[in-house]
Amino acid sequence: MALIVQKYGGTSVADPERMRNVARHIAASKAEGNQLVIVVSAMGKATDNLMDLARQVSSAPPGRELDMLLTTGERISMSLLCMALQDLGVEAMSFTGSQVGIITDTVHGRAKILEIRGDRVREALRDGKVAVVAGFQGVSTEKEITTLGRGGSDTTAVALAAALKADVCEIYTDVTGVFTADPRLVSQARKLKHLEFDEMLEMAGAGSKVLALRSVEFARNHNVPIHVRSSFTWEQGTWVTSEERKGEKNMEDPIISGVVHDAGDAKITVLGVPDQPGVSAALFEPLANANVNVDMIVQNTSTAGTTDISFTLPKTDVAIAQPIVEKIAKQVGASGVTNDSNIAKISLVGAGMKSSPGIAAKMFRVLADNKVNIEMISTSTIRISVVVAAPMLETAVRALHTAFDLDSGEEYSAPLPERK
Ligand code: ADP
Ligand code: ASP
Ligand code: MG
Repeated sequence: MALIVQKYGGTSVADPERMRNVARHIAASKAEGNQLVIVVSAMGKATDNLMDLARQVSSAPPGRELDMLLTTGERISMSLLCMALQDLGVEAMSFTGSQVGIITDTVHGRAKILEIRGDRVREALRDGKVAVVAGFQGVSTEKEITTLGRGGSDTTAVALAAALKADVCEIYTDVTGVFTADPRLVSQARKLKHLEFDEMLEMAGAGSKVLALRSVEFARNHNVPIHVRSSFTWEQGTWVTSEERKGEKNMEDPIISGVVHDAGDAKITVLGVPDQPGVSAALFEPLANANVNVDMIVQNTSTAGTTDISFTLPKTDVAIAQPIVEKIAKQVGASGVTNDSNIAKISLVGAGMKSSPGIAAKMFRVLADNKVNIEMISTSTIRISVVVAAPMLETAVRALHTAFDLDSGEEYSAPLPERK
């Protein structure tokens, strides 16, 4: 008997029929003798629709009320799924994040999980029930309802799996696993059988939506094996585990495990910044205090005692960051601030990069040959990222996928349901 946490994303529970399909799969897993904890996302576009509603009544919805609103999406899913399960004769009980004791910090909209108590889930399991938990939410140390950031149900699932010492965390979604690129963009993308945590961490950090970054951090820190798979075909998907579990390096392991794209960032540039100690600290400290997620930073070499500083950040953070940056720019005597939302970030990720020189050079050559101009570059030991103009995104991703021998030779054939 295994203890399994299964997470179902929005498309997997988008309508009553899909919900009943999911319930049937859970019933079958239960019949195999497993103990099951289910984490659900809001149905289909529910979270986006709630967000739209909030914007229709307020130009700046307060974080507390927005979280109160958004968490209702997952409550609808959890209760409906329990009804569907009980209809199949499976005893099941739904719980909100707060009932499960998912304790977070106080940052509305992107709270971090501090602790999971989990008593009610353990009780339900002891009683032979399936525990169904609302994803994406918790309760803060100040007793307020919080959300964990977009895609946060993955984090709920992996964190619960860690707290309950589950054997595996299964992430059911609308593609059949983790691929060498988003199959929606690259139909020749290849399914990866196995990835190690560090590779998945870099892919998630580079903006691949298939797993939320924090869920991978939890998985690595607590050594929770993740199995990303499809709730449409139910076939074997992709395992994300520690390097040891992955086993000996295979001679045929590709150097590059994937090309990741992210169209969700914008770029802010501070022009004519005096080149002196303390300026970067003056700029980035207040952004950090405002919880703005700064990603790449590039500073030009100084000419005539001034320099330009550019950085990327989520588009959704520009409204918070822009006034802060303008204020600091004035204080430090910079000449101006510009912003550009029409950018895309493209990253190559692969553990094999550590021992293979020349990957960056090849990446830049492929982009040059395809007339893609590089605006920014950043690297880690197993990732190279570039920022390009948004309209070049598809050309660049496909060219890199082909140039690094990732094309599978066949078209992606599982259904690709329309989404948010
Ligand atoms: P869910 O609603 O189930 O959480 P997400 O939208 O968060 O689903 O994640 C699944 C989506 O991730 C897929 O539909 C796919 O378009 C996208 N995706 C991006 N990069 C990849 C990749 N490398 N492999 C698989 N899917 C990817
Ligand atoms: N419903 C939330 C979202 O759309 C959380 C999730 O789906 O993981 O971001
Ligand atoms: Mg998701």
